[in-house]
Amino acid sequence: MKKELVFLGPPASGKGTQTSRLSQEMGLPHVDTGSLLRAAIQGGTPEGIEAKSYIEKGALVPVEIVAAIIKNRLLQADCANGFILDGFPRSVEQANILETIRTEIDGANPVDFKVIYFDIPQDVLLERIIYRRSCAACGKIYNLKTLKPKQDGICDCGGELTQRKDDNEETARARFETYFNETAPLVEYYKQKGVLKNLDAQGSVEEIWNRLQEAIG
Ligand code: AMP
Repeated sequence: MKKELVFLGPPASGKGTQTSRLSQEMGLPHVDTGSLLRAAIQGGTPEGIEAKSYIEKGALVPVEIVAAIIKNRLLQADCANGFILDGFPRSVEQANILETIRTEIDGANPVDFKVIYFDIPQDVLLERIIYRRSCAACGKIYNLKTLKPKQDGICDCGGELTQRKDDNEETARARFETYFNETAPLVEYYKQKGVLKNLDAQGSVEEIWNRLQEAIG
């Protein structure tokens, strides 16, 4: 059966780190709207140009832009057996859009749909964001305090480590506000639908990985 997973949780709750590994192990693509939007900005597409100011403010990019990008991505051949969504949906409106897209793509075919909620207190997250660095070549995520590369500023693969422009304290605070106002209601929304799995997202990458295996079942 087609497997569709949604990873839900506040910024820097560890979704990206776990999704990259899970995506490799399950052979399912990691579909991450933040990365798709950053690629659109780099590519100078009309969507990217419009999205840029919202991302820099820590606000949600208008729904039409994100819906078009995500639909386009989910229609690609590598998503035919399933996918792992990270960063979408981010509001109840987007969750409804996802349902519409799923019906368009999957029709009445049964789908194994689960939402994994990365449950973690907010106080540890701001620090994670400020110390987060990622590899421009392979995408691996580091933390300058807790998960350092072997050599300063260089990924273990040899690529350059960079900091996301929106990973500064001011934008991070705005992103948390956006999360609590717009995205957090999805926890209740998906609980009501009986598809939500709670994941304790505190602890080491390995501990969370083991809990994730149980949650996915
Ligand atoms: P992320 O990489 O998931 O932290 O996303 C970075 C930024 O991209 C967010 O702060 C939003 O401005 C924008 N973004 C990512 N996903 C979405 C989405 N599903 N809807 C609207 N904006 C998004």
